[in-house]
Amino acid sequence: MDHTLHPAVFFDKDGTIVEDRPYNVDCSMLCLAAGAIDAMQSLQSLGYRLVVVTNQSGIARGIFTVEDFRRLERALIDRLATAGVRLAGVYFCPHLPNGAVADYAIQCDCRKPQPGLFLQAAEQLDLDLSRSWMIGDILDDIEAAHRAGCRAVLVDGRNETQWRWSPLRRPEATVANLPAAARYISTAPPIRRSPSCVSAEAAT
Ligand SMILES: [Mg+2]
Ligand SMILES: [Zn+2]
Repeated sequence: MDHTLHPAVFFDKDGTIVEDRPYNVDCSMLCLAAGAIDAMQSLQSLGYRLVVVTNQSGIARGIFTVEDFRRLERALIDRLATAGVRLAGVYFCPHLPNGAVADYAIQCDCRKPQPGLFLQAAEQLDLDLSRSWMIGDILDDIEAAHRAGCRAVLVDGRNETQWRWSPLRRPEATVANLPAAARYISTAPPIRRSPSCVSAEAAT
């Protein structure tokens, strides 16, 4: 049996690899962010599995359905595939406490900053979270990654509006764009060094 675990780079979708259009599920409006293809190609060539982890509260809010999102996901996968970028998986959280759709109006463990999407992906895709990274545009992405035992790079920062800081929300690096995030990851040490401070804080 092969138990080899793979490093991954997790990408947030909205505002990170896709230009942010709130609650958009119209494939014709899907627009990749500048540098997304370059960054994903280079990380893929370094041996990282590429995984999208995204909060889709529009489902719980009743703005669009799981099927609508699946169509958009398919368009995203196809768009990337034409550039030679292969996504290992797309994981989404459809939930929101107090959402309008009863089935999804729950307090879940997968809505970032919770780490559930990362843990699902790790289990299904044989990922080594301690060698894996998150690239996102807000601090909830960073916190979720750290809770999962990954490292994290914040891109741009213009999309974060709250700036609620805690040790778990401090990224390993803040960079201007996706290619810069890929370069940072490519030169960082392969394994995360001090997970102990994270578990100490997570316990409080
Ligand atoms: Mg985002
Ligand atoms: Zn969820």
